[in-house]
Amino acid sequence: MAHSSERKNDLMNIAEIVDRLISVPIFFGSSLAARPVVLDLHAAARSKIGKPLVFDAFERLRNGIENSGSDSVLILTGFVVPPWLKAETDGPVGSASLARSLNLAWNLTPVIVTEPTWVSSMGELMKYSGFGLRRDYSKKKGKDEYRNAFVEPFTLEMEKAKKQADTLISRVSPAAVISIEKASPNSKGVYHSGVGVDISPLSAKADTLIDAAKENGIPTIGIGDAGNEIGMGCIEKQVREILPTGNDCGCPCHGGVASSVSTDSLIVAGTSNWGASALESLISFHFKSSELLHDGKMEEFLIAKSAELGYINPASGLAEAGVDAIPADIHGSLVNILNFIVKSRCVPSYYLKKYVEFTRDKERLARLIQEESKDRA
Ligand SMILES: [Zn+2]
Repeated sequence: MAHSSERKNDLMNIAEIVDRLISVPIFFGSSLAARPVVLDLHAAARSKIGKPLVFDAFERLRNGIENSGSDSVLILTGFVVPPWLKAETDGPVGSASLARSLNLAWNLTPVIVTEPTWVSSMGELMKYSGFGLRRDYSKKKGKDEYRNAFVEPFTLEMEKAKKQADTLISRVSPAAVISIEKASPNSKGVYHSGVGVDISPLSAKADTLIDAAKENGIPTIGIGDAGNEIGMGCIEKQVREILPTGNDCGCPCHGGVASSVSTDSLIVAGTSNWGASALESLISFHFKSSELLHDGKMEEFLIAKSAELGYINPASGLAEAGVDAIPADIHGSLVNILNFIVKSRCVPSYYLKKYVEFTRDKERLARLIQEESKDRA
């Protein structure tokens, strides 16, 4: 295609802008670190990957979809936070919105993997992002092909995980595996919350799905915001240096919360849901359609619904309309800005076109300016 390199350039520019926007830590009330860790984690990942993180993830995702001919995508999410012992709103909301975008763009059937306790809530949330809900992917039929989603429980027991992962990967044969805010084991196999609490008994051993995907040549994408999530293994060394609990969790394992699970692509975001929205932005731009990126209203709606379903704001422990201590309307505003960025490049501006026309005749402009300056003198 004649315009293929131009398209790629455009996509790269949009990705650069989106990547910067979604990696700005706008909430800095946390006492977890003296400096917002996202700034340094993002810089580390960016330096390693050598291009906008969102661009790398999008290109890998698109290649996976176009080369595999697969009709499904696997999304791993759900993070149970102590002392509340409930899953947080970060992750499920981004999974629901990204699943919608992937389905509209390529008609991929989303298969969401989460802790058994949270399967029901996640299923309801998928309904609120517009899907019909199906259970048990092994019973998938042709009639499930359009606008339906599956939610699959994944074992908390390490002994059962490898077998379940192999079975699920071979049954679903996904175009890609995307992990959004999912607890990852450290190098000692222990899963931690950000502050270093061992949450292994409550966490699905979903990292085994990343291993199984890699064995089958299926692209993997990790999205995280702290360093203890699946995918952050890409920058494990830096997480150990940057995060106060990175190298020593303070729990009996003393192995640090740093993830040891790497993915092919890694998106570091201020809040993991934003990483999902960023991917949607590139999908939307790629297809030149703003409908493939959800809007701020829908973001707020999904966050409110996730709270109704029992997902919590990890800062307060309350099931309330917020994510990572940031109120829902602020998240909505960020998604609106992403929409504006995409639209600004997709839809040519009439004003700008006229402006360029009016300023083309440099001699005429010089004359006008001279006249004006005389009148003002
Ligand atoms: Zn530990």
